Amino acid sequence: MFVPLTALERILQIIGHTYVPSGESYLMTQCPVAGINHSDGQDRRPSCSLGHTDRPTRFKCFTCGFDASIHEVAFMYYRKRVITPEEYLEIDTICKKSYDSNINLEDLEQKLKANPEPTSVLLDESELDLYEKSVTPWLLNRNPEPEINITMETCKKWGIRYSKDEKMVVIPVYDQEGLRGITTRNTQSSGSKYLSSKGFRNHHFLFGMNHFADVCSLPTKGGIILVEGQFDVMYMHQLGYTNTLGLFSANITTQQVKILERFEKPLTFFLDNDKAGQKGLERARCMISKHIDVYVVRYPDSIPEKADPKRLSSDTINELLTNSEYVV
Ligand SMILES: [Zn+2]
Repeated sequence: MFVPLTALERILQIIGHTYVPSGESYLMTQCPVAGINHSDGQDRRPSCSLGHTDRPTRFKCFTCGFDASIHEVAFMYYRKRVITPEEYLEIDTICKKSYDSNINLEDLEQKLKANPEPTSVLLDESELDLYEKSVTPWLLNRNPEPEINITMETCKKWGIRYSKDEKMVVIPVYDQEGLRGITTRNTQSSGSKYLSSKGFRNHHFLFGMNHFADVCSLPTKGGIILVEGQFDVMYMHQLGYTNTLGLFSANITTQQVKILERFEKPLTFFLDNDKAGQKGLERARCMISKHIDVYVVRYPDSIPEKADPKRLSSDTINELLTNSEYVV
């Protein structure tokens, strides 16, 4: 009833997880459903344990309580097109060599469908009063870093605040109804980069809905531009791309797909130029309904890896969007 470490390493490699050993019989790896179940949609610590000696080999997440066998996780990734059918079969073969799994696919389908509903709670605007309105200290300190290529006017427009004590930039998240959550971005090198206010499930929302206009004066092939980060959204709007919305990470969720499909507009994915961004594209392409046209921005080799919209000039962005590729 166990999968030896070498075989487990191969499985984790296939599903794109890393791990750190935890005692003699366990290792810690990323939670497979962090994007759906964790408040920040991530699992940096990581918080999911996996046994690799004489313990039953299951994913058990200490953050959200997720509990599933390797088979179930592999099948989930296969369904989400994170892994190919061939990769799924390889994992299946490795598991069969190690133990006999009897997986009930109907149960699994049910589990996958059971996504928590978005919170209907609106935050009171006064929650923002905890933070100072002025972002000047942050803007001045961060300059001339290109990633804060946003102006004071943009900060004001988006209601950005600054917490001097915690050294955090505070970004409110609105939808058409009102204030949904508050995210903070750590400006120091240690600690989590982004945090969300309690109970706010950012993956149920898209950033920028309060300033979104689906008619944009600038030419784009796709009706709605999707970027990963909040600063990318603000920067795109600053340039005039008011048809931009943000995902909060590279991985689009079913809840975000639902919101987007309601617009019945083509989508242009302008994710970061890194592995997460590229994997996110694959995932998005499979999750979005066939009747919605999808375009993707491909970065040429001349653009450094890890580049993202907020680090690019207006001309470069214009060129990339003009050359965005239609994907079937
Ligand atoms: Zn979890």
